[in-house]
Amino acid sequence: MTSESVELGFVEKRAAWKLRSKFFPSKVGGKPAWLRLNNLPNRTDLLCSTCNNPLSFLMQVYAPVPEVESAFHRTIFIFMCSNGKCCRPFSGESFMVFRSQLPRKNDFYSFEPPAYKEKLSLDPSAEKYQPLCHVCGCFASLKCAGCDGKDYCCESHRSKDWEDGHKNSCGKEQGSVSKLQSNSFLLPEFDLVTETEQLPAAEPEKSDEAKMNEYRQFMQSSKAPKEMQDLPLDDLDINLKKNDKAFNKFHKRVNLEPEQVLRYQKGGLPLWVSSEHVPKPEDICNCSCGAKRIFEFQVMPQLLNSLSLDTAVDSVDWGTLAVYTCSKSCDQETENYVKEFLWKQDFSEDRN
Ligand SMILES: [Zn+2]
Ligand SMILES: [Zn+2]
Ligand SMILES: [Zn+2]
Ligand SMILES: [Zn+2]
Repeated sequence: MTSESVELGFVEKRAAWKLRSKFFPSKVGGKPAWLRLNNLPNRTDLLCSTCNNPLSFLMQVYAPVPEVESAFHRTIFIFMCSNGKCCRPFSGESFMVFRSQLPRKNDFYSFEPPAYKEKLSLDPSAEKYQPLCHVCGCFASLKCAGCDGKDYCCESHRSKDWEDGHKNSCGKEQGSVSKLQSNSFLLPEFDLVTETEQLPAAEPEKSDEAKMNEYRQFMQSSKAPKEMQDLPLDDLDINLKKNDKAFNKFHKRVNLEPEQVLRYQKGGLPLWVSSEHVPKPEDICNCSCGAKRIFEFQVMPQLLNSLSLDTAVDSVDWGTLAVYTCSKSCDQETENYVKEFLWKQDFSEDRN
């Protein structure tokens, strides 16, 4: 799927049932729509390495590789710690990426694509294969001690659900586990739709003054990161003179479609937000199968906006999240969710 052009991703509101596993969605927030419905990631792989709390599901991208038989279906999942204090600048350690893939003929889904009007009938769900946490939708190994009817991934989600209302309904809900799709732990849920980026015909080189004006407009628009909008223009002038080429290129390209939250170009090059902290080839570690990892897609800062994560001082932040995956889409471990690699880049510090 290596291609010259970039597929851009945008968030859209969509009925929750259209974002369930059998429709192979790309989506943001809510609970993960697992691809392989058993052998979900271990709880230990879904704990923040800094604060030890469960990671939140950020997004998933459905990206089959037609030339690899075992990757007829293929989805990349990103989780992150939603505690902003764990999200340190220029470090991707509070994020976790998994790849899952299946051949066309598999134990979970029909050979032919599902009809939309099927709605919830014949709904393959990971819940049939293992208990799922009522709060986050990940593998659950604990039960409510009171009613035995609700499952949780960890003590913190058990007590969260208790405080969120289960203490009033424990033992009174007749076996039917509520299918409520949202709670304060989950990020708001959106569909992720893609379209091919259209580049304008090459323009003549602009004058410095024209560039400066565009730059001022960008910095004062809501598209610039919050902390940058408040900078006095004099500081901006100084910064422009420092002339971070990568940032200028980034802002020019993103301005063509300012709402983009994803840029997908498997085997392509990420659009860096700064010339600082760009990974060297040796920084991208190989897949556990030994093959090199290649760039597959990047998550854009606009997504913070869509998720309302850009408002609080201590919230999660990024310039861009670049995801690298196994160049062979290896199937040596297709029985499991395979870890992949994420590189987090931030807007450079010297802009402040
Ligand atoms: Zn954390
Ligand atoms: Zn949980
Ligand atoms: Zn209970
Ligand atoms: Zn591999």
